[in-house]
Amino acid sequence: MEYESVIGLEVHAQLLTRSKLFCSCATVFQADPNEQTCPVCLGMPGVLPVLNRQTVEFAIRTGLAMQGQIAPVSRFARKNYFYPDLPKGYQISQYEEPLIEGGGLTIDVEGTSKHIQLIRIHLEEDAGKSIHGENLADPSKSYIDLNRTGVPLLEIVSAPDLRSPEEAKAYLQKLKTILEYIEVCDGNMEEGSLRCDANVSLRPKGAQALGTRAEIKNLNSFRNVQRALEYEIERQTEVLDGGGRVIQETRLFDANRGVTLPMRSKEEAHDYRYFPEPDLVPLRIDQEWIERVRQDLPELPDARQRRFTTHYSLPDYDTEVLTASRDLADSYEAAVRLYNQPKVVSNWVMGDVNRELNRHHHTPRQAPVTPTHLADLLHLIDAGVLSGKIARTVFEEMYRTGKPAKAIVEEQGLVQMSDSALLETIIQQVLADNASQVDAYRAGKQQVFGFFVGQTMKATQGKANPALVNELLRKFLD
Ligand SMILES: [Zn+2]
Repeated sequence: MEYESVIGLEVHAQLLTRSKLFCSCATVFQADPNEQTCPVCLGMPGVLPVLNRQTVEFAIRTGLAMQGQIAPVSRFARKNYFYPDLPKGYQISQYEEPLIEGGGLTIDVEGTSKHIQLIRIHLEEDAGKSIHGENLADPSKSYIDLNRTGVPLLEIVSAPDLRSPEEAKAYLQKLKTILEYIEVCDGNMEEGSLRCDANVSLRPKGAQALGTRAEIKNLNSFRNVQRALEYEIERQTEVLDGGGRVIQETRLFDANRGVTLPMRSKEEAHDYRYFPEPDLVPLRIDQEWIERVRQDLPELPDARQRRFTTHYSLPDYDTEVLTASRDLADSYEAAVRLYNQPKVVSNWVMGDVNRELNRHHHTPRQAPVTPTHLADLLHLIDAGVLSGKIARTVFEEMYRTGKPAKAIVEEQGLVQMSDSALLETIIQQVLADNASQVDAYRAGKQQVFGFFVGQTMKATQGKANPALVNELLRKFLD
């Protein structure tokens, strides 16, 4: 039997506010345990939550960027469950009346565009964290860190429109890019700022009804999302082919072994006994606020990619790489303004710049080489001061030291050798040292020419101006 996989993702994005969703505690990552807590986020009796206005604005911004409907009235709800890291015994979330409904985003997989619809986006508070393991004072005990309790999250729920692990990965990447562009989430999956649960089920190809789904929890990298789904699809295929049936459950992905394991039977919404949060009034948003947020929206990734195509005449591959991060696209455009050859700049940014960024784990904004420094370097190549080859060495040095190209060229005497008299002497020596190859060349073996170019470049440590070397060699040989 041939199956079709049906995948939906629930993404939790931590909002980039300085304080929590319902209190003024800080949200700094890796503070000392329980340092960032107060009676409100600890759920002490008699305290009341106060909604953080900035989180609502971030949610509106996200809703508009995804073309969703912003509800004029939405409501917070209590999601009740017991867990050691949940001091209140409930999480304040939204249920029946979420802040945003509908909308979607477009993904590209293997050259095909596909629109993925969203069901809803809502605000909720994060739970705390249980800590187990060998680094603790007493490894036989579990510890609780409540710094994360009450941290503002956006839950973004997709429709089950995804059909393969590749599509799921592309969706998550696109979502991360948009959230970064609109500056509501830093997208840092290692630090848990972006977490993903995946629902996956199989159905016979062509069938309409959905199969029974399993939910895989807390996937913390693009690669793990893809690996977990690949494993889970294979596992469900085996169950169905063996005449069994998939049970509805929550599973965990073991990244070391590459397998998903059962965690608990899947709870239903009614298990949480949702009810409207009595401590908060309904959230009313006027149209004027929405319009103001809309005016402030930056150019979004799809629009920017289209503009890069038409304005800079770049190939699709280039526009995709350059616009995948807002910072990278910004530095690219800043460099092009100073050195008006879009494709040349693109090659440098996608090649040498990206390589150094990855090597040093830097974001484009953290790069020691500014767009101005890059443009200056490219001007030096055009002026004949540097060969392309030496320019790449200079670039590495610029990245290492943060110095501009000119300073490095002067310090290290890297100026391209364009002195004909000096080059003539070197070339004559090269030819004298390789008399048999000269004879071969003159007897008609044209390909030896490249050998002479190579020898000359070697003798000048790569500094010779290649065009001049070619010209002088022809003069002596022909
Ligand atoms: Zn607090």
